[in-house]
Amino acid sequence: MRYAIISDIHGNIEALQAVLRDIEGRKIDKIVCLGDVVGYYPDPEKCIDLVRKNAEFCIAGNHDYAAIGRVDTKTFTYYAFAAMEWTKRHLSDEAKAFLTSLPLSMEADDLYFVHSSPANIEQWPYVFPDNEYAVFEAFNSIVHWLNFVGHTHWPSIMYQDDDKIILYPETSIELNRSHYYLVNVGSVGQPRDFDPRSCYGIYDSDSQQISLVRVEYDYTITQKKIAENRLPSFLAERLEKGR
Ligand code: ZN
Repeated sequence: MRYAIISDIHGNIEALQAVLRDIEGRKIDKIVCLGDVVGYYPDPEKCIDLVRKNAEFCIAGNHDYAAIGRVDTKTFTYYAFAAMEWTKRHLSDEAKAFLTSLPLSMEADDLYFVHSSPANIEQWPYVFPDNEYAVFEAFNSIVHWLNFVGHTHWPSIMYQDDDKIILYPETSIELNRSHYYLVNVGSVGQPRDFDPRSCYGIYDSDSQQISLVRVEYDYTITQKKIAENRLPSFLAERLEKGR
């Protein structure tokens, strides 16, 4: 079975279309979405439609829940807050019903999927590889051998070997069934690891291979729409910096 795991689309339809085209050419059996389908960019409704059509299942991100009032935007940056207010005004009742239906986590085929971390799910912690506290807390809560997260927009593959947590420098590895893994699949719609290309993950359960894939897309189209819709210009600038 070959899985494509996508996350943090954030209403960026140009990025999502490019990633789905890339997925089409790779013999994928199941697409899983780790949430934050909306927030920041001007096509939340279209992104929800495409995720519903293509993904086997989708779980909730903090922005998805913010759009339906389940997460308080007081914790958001000004840009995230402004974009969320815009997003709320541009979602149909059907789209909101879909966001309301999203679960916080999912177990399937012996794999675990959650937006931010297996620990303190409803507090949405940021498990950056250099945030030792969040990393150890995440690994302490892990039950399944292979766990997929998003949220930081920073792709990484980490595993636990005894009491050590090891961060892989590679973006493609063969898994060892005796380890516990935490795989961050990065962001489709707003990468923040200094690479503006969209990111997603592929897991092949036959070859036990994990790969983090990058896909180029034309972010200048998204930038034009951001200006037309008077969303914060900072959100346009960061697309070309990948930051
Ligand atoms: Zn996000």
